[in-house]
Amino acid sequence: MSIWFTEKQTGNFGITAKIKQTYVSERTDFQELQMVETEEWGNMLILDDMVMTTEKDEFVYHEMVAHVPLFTHPNPKNVLVVGGGDGGAIREVLKHQSVERVTLVDIDGKVIEYSKKYLPTIASGYNDKRVEVKVEDGFMYIADSKKAFDVIMVDSTEPVGPAVNLFTKGFYAAIHEALTDDGVFVAQTDNPWFKADLIKQAFHDVQEIFPVTRLYTANIPTYPSGLWTFTMGSKIHDPLKVKEERFFEMETKYFTPEIHFASFVLPKFVKDMTK
Ligand code: SAM
Repeated sequence: MSIWFTEKQTGNFGITAKIKQTYVSERTDFQELQMVETEEWGNMLILDDMVMTTEKDEFVYHEMVAHVPLFTHPNPKNVLVVGGGDGGAIREVLKHQSVERVTLVDIDGKVIEYSKKYLPTIASGYNDKRVEVKVEDGFMYIADSKKAFDVIMVDSTEPVGPAVNLFTKGFYAAIHEALTDDGVFVAQTDNPWFKADLIKQAFHDVQEIFPVTRLYTANIPTYPSGLWTFTMGSKIHDPLKVKEERFFEMETKYFTPEIHFASFVLPKFVKDMTK
């Protein structure tokens, strides 16, 4: 008998994946955690019955959450990833030689532990000496940080359970304080088909705090609706004004300098959410 994992993206719609084997299925101190091998997408991390990352399509999300803000900043040295326990965002951050230190703050040590074991190609950056890992609540960590980071990425779960506070105006204001005077931040802001209100709220909250606020998208097949958004807040630097010579050659499978700019070209129904 074949086993299938189904994520209900809404009460009436979802996606389903055939499971080869289940490595982990447990309740951690913060969330339900499953690590499975799927027929179609390779190994897959699932939290609270939502797909977090898969070996086959993870590169899209991780390249876009990392490189767009990192190229927007002229010389990023200190980088913070809030969430991101699978390690994919820091793997991409480490491709930037200017980066001297990348701090990852994830509330759930089990995500880090199992990602290192079952997602080795995603969690490959953890051994780098520039990486510092803290297992604590990102909301509290940010509150204690002042002018410390050039770039901050919020690679969190959806606004349920431990991540609810990470989608608040208070958190974005605290991020503003934690950034250097020309700092840049980005947060994953879910999908426009099923979470339009979340995107509108997040974009307008960030717009009230940061002089430069932009929304960009990427195609991630295993995420709800397949069309994902990222909201960027920047104190000075505009992602649409990055100079050609700022980009350098690196190994990617989705991100290119052309995609950097194209990802900000929004379909009308998405653009209307930023008005
Ligand atoms: N890319 C995925 C997405 O867009 O849905 C997110 C992947 S990453 C695994 C999400 C991480 O956020 C999880 O490891 C979870 O433990 C972490 N997280 C949730 N709430 C958090 C909080 N308050 N502070 C720090 N990390 C948190």
